[in-house]
This record gives sequence, C-alpha cells and structure tokens, in this order.
Amino acid sequence: MGTAVVLLTRDLRVHDNPALAAACAAGRVVPLYVLDPTLAGISPNRTRFLHQSLADLREQLRQRGGDLIVRSGDPVTETIRAARDSGADKVHLAADVSGYARRRERRLAAGCEQHRIALELHPGVTVVEPGAVRPGGGGDAYRVFTPYYRAWSAVTRRKLAPTPERLTLPGGLTAGDLPAPPGGESPHAVEGGENAGRRRLSTWSRQDLDGYADAHDDMAGDATSRLSPYLRWGCLSPLEVAEAARARNADAFVRQLCWRDFYYQVTRAYPKLSTQALRPAADGDWRYDDDALQHWQDGLTGVPIVDAGMRQLREEGWMHNRARLITAAFLTKHLGVDWRLGVAWFSRWLLDGDVPNNSGNWQWTAGTGNDTRPYRRFNPIRQALRFDPEGVYVRRYVPELKGIEGAAVHQPWRLPESEFRGLDYPGPLESHRDEAVWLR
Ligand code: FAD
Repeated sequence: MGTAVVLLTRDLRVHDNPALAAACAAGRVVPLYVLDPTLAGISPNRTRFLHQSLADLREQLRQRGGDLIVRSGDPVTETIRAARDSGADKVHLAADVSGYARRRERRLAAGCEQHRIALELHPGVTVVEPGAVRPGGGGDAYRVFTPYYRAWSAVTRRKLAPTPERLTLPGGLTAGDLPAPPGGESPHAVEGGENAGRRRLSTWSRQDLDGYADAHDDMAGDATSRLSPYLRWGCLSPLEVAEAARARNADAFVRQLCWRDFYYQVTRAYPKLSTQALRPAADGDWRYDDDALQHWQDGLTGVPIVDAGMRQLREEGWMHNRARLITAAFLTKHLGVDWRLGVAWFSRWLLDGDVPNNSGNWQWTAGTGNDTRPYRRFNPIRQALRFDPEGVYVRRYVPELKGIEGAAVHQPWRLPESEFRGLDYPGPLESHRDEAVWLR
C-alpha cells in the first residue's frame, strides 16, 4: 500500500475531486492544506470563506476516517516536509492557471524531483481543461468567446471522479490547528464550504435553473445561481455543475460556465492579465482621480444604479453580474479611471474574486480585453431602466432613496428641486453633472 500527499488549493471538496480520488486510490493519503502567508490579507471576505470551507472539508474527511492536515508557511516546503514525514512517494495537485499558481507548481515539481517524489497534476478547476482546445492556425488561447464556446461544447468530458468513501491516514502525523474563521468585512456574505455549496446548488437548481435564460438579467429578481464563490474555491466541481445543467438542457447557464473556462484559458496564456492589457493599443489615457475613485468605491457617485451595485459588493462580498458590468463600465468608460484600480477594489471584496474572472471581465469592460466591440458604452440610466425597471434593486441597497417610487429612483435629479435637495443623497459627480452624459 503506497502513501500519497494531495495538496489541496482551490479544490476544497470531496465530490469529483480528481486529485483526491487518485491519492485515495493509491492507498494511504495525506490531504494537506497549507495556509500561505503570501495570499493572506488580500481579502478578509475571502479569507473567512476559505477558513469556513476548510473547516467543512476537515469535517467531511473526518467522517470518512481521514483528516485535513493543516500547515502554515510556504506550500512547497510544507508539502515536501509532509511527504517525507509520512513516507509518501507521490504528490497530487490540481493544475491551476494564475502566474502565482504556475510558479508554485514549477517550484513543487523541482522540490519533488530533488527528493525523488513523483508529482501528478490533475484537472478539476474548470469544466474543460485550459489548453484542451486551441484555436486553429496556432495561438495558445482563444481570444474570442464564440469560437471557443463552439469548440468547448464539442469536447468529450472526463468522467466525474468517485467520492472517497473511506480514507486511511498514515500514522504519526499531527493534524494541525485550523484557526477560527477570521472576521470578514461584509456583514451579509454567504457561508463557505462544500456542504453550503451543495445545498445552494440543489435549492437553486430546483427553483430557478429552468428559468435562468429569461431571469438572469433581472437585477431585482436575484435569480442567478450565486454559485460563483463555491466554484471559485472548488467547493463545487464546475464539471459536476455543468453536467447537471446540461442534462436539464439549461444552455444559457452552461454558456456562463463556459465564460469562466474561457478566462482560465486566456490567463494560462497571458498570466499577467491583472496588470497588462491584452490589447495594449487600447490601454490609453486613464485618469487617476482619487476623489472620483473614492465616490465610486463608497457607492456615492450620485448615479443610483452604480451606487446600489457598489453597496451590494460591500454588504455581501458579491454583486449581480449586470451590476458588475454597469459599475465597471462607469468607472472605466465614464469616469475614465484605470481598470486596474477597479480590479483591485473588486479583488478586495469579492468572495468569488480570482485573477481570470475578475481581470478578464474588467479588461472586457474597459475595452482592453476580449470584447469584440471594445468601444461599446454602457449607459447606466438605460441599463437601469431596462434591467431594474421598477427600481426595486436600487431601493434595496440605497436606503436614502427608499421614498422614491418606481423608475423615478434612477434619476433623482429629475425630481422637483426642493425634493431632490431634501434627499440625503449626492448629485452626480462634478465631472459628470451634465445629464446629457448619461443619455448619449
Ligand atoms: P450565474 O449567472 O449563475 O452563472 C453561473 C456561473 O458561471 C457563475 O457562478 C460563474 O462561475 C460563471 N460566470 C457567469 N458569468 C461569467 C462571466 N461573465 N465571466 C466568467 N464566469 C462567469 N466572476 C467570478 O467568478 N469572479 C470574479 O472575480 C468576477 N469578476 C467580475 C468582474 C467584472 C467587472 C464583471 C463584469 C464580471 C465578473 N465576474 C466574476 C463574472 C460574473 O459577474 C460572476 O461570475 C457572476 O455574477 C456570479 O454570479 P452567479 O454565480 O449567480 O452567476
């Protein structure tokens, strides 16, 4: 019977976890998570979600006779140490795409080689592995979504990995303490963990999956899956979610999962996606206006639909996709502020924040990335009237405007002057006071 270490990173689940399943099949297994100080502190919301997910995973592994071995420090050093302490001759790891993850993977490969330990990489972070489909005529990655979607849809999928029933830990290892979940910043953030994710998947699929195509842009309806944090941390297998949706012919939803994969394969080819424009020629004259940026971050731009989105982000550590588009377009295309500052702010708050999806979508919105119509402008008022026609979403997050009925809430500056002045709510930002700007 052999012994293997599985280094868990963002695949915090027992269902369809190819790396864990392979390690279990080999014999004794050390499921290891290393709390990496380099990644701590970027986002208190995500740190809390991570700790909740680790506690849940430990519980699941314990129920199966195993445990989650927790260490702190450099993941490579700690993995090699755990392998040597347990007599393991193999390390299993889910392959990942960010620059940081790739460097970690390369260092781990070198460390394993030095100690004569085998390293096996597994799929599992996406539905289809990044790089599994490549554009015809060369190139590392598809840069346009539709042809990628076509190729992605035709790929034969791997089978779901079996869920381990029993795990055998080698003797002599201390489990290591899991620190209590630290406080996050958002009071209404969802709870992390595979169990919470599976509950959400099951409830949402029952109630809202069939109506997704029609309802996903209804901001007030809030009927999207809200599975993104669970997919981000691998509490849910993207393949399992996609296969379940495909079996229900939920094409519009599967297409969104493909967008996720799309940005992963872009990141694999362009790991500097968070800082370098995919189309450098479009990465032009950004403004660095601290005052405008602060108003945007605080949800005090005076444009209610923008402010509602930005406040949802702080309250929940999550934002509706339509609001992400509106707020990101407002920062980059209306205020002219550098998209990298938007990436950083979203990255601090989002439970689902990661390099591929956050930076990929920001570049799409800013026109420096994969949009085939990079000069499109999102008119926030038109967007608001279309996707929040009764103003319900805005009133939910901007209590100062609760008294304004219907769609009038989207343009409070149109109220009689005395009424507008009576609101505890700012007028549009100095540089954007001219209403014509919104209606262009
Ligand atoms: P659903 O509508 O239920 O979709 C199902 C799943 O498909 C999502 O959970 C997500 O994994 C994936 N998905 C949906 N839309 C997209 C998309 N446009 N791009 C990539 N994947 C998508 N998503 C993240 O997961 N992390 C981020 O850091 C992130 N940052 C974003 C920043 C901006 C500026 C924009 C415009 C979008 C961003 N998105 C990001 C994409 C999208 O907004 C979220 O994935 C979605 O809102 C999550 O809600 P949901 O789970 O209810 O999605």
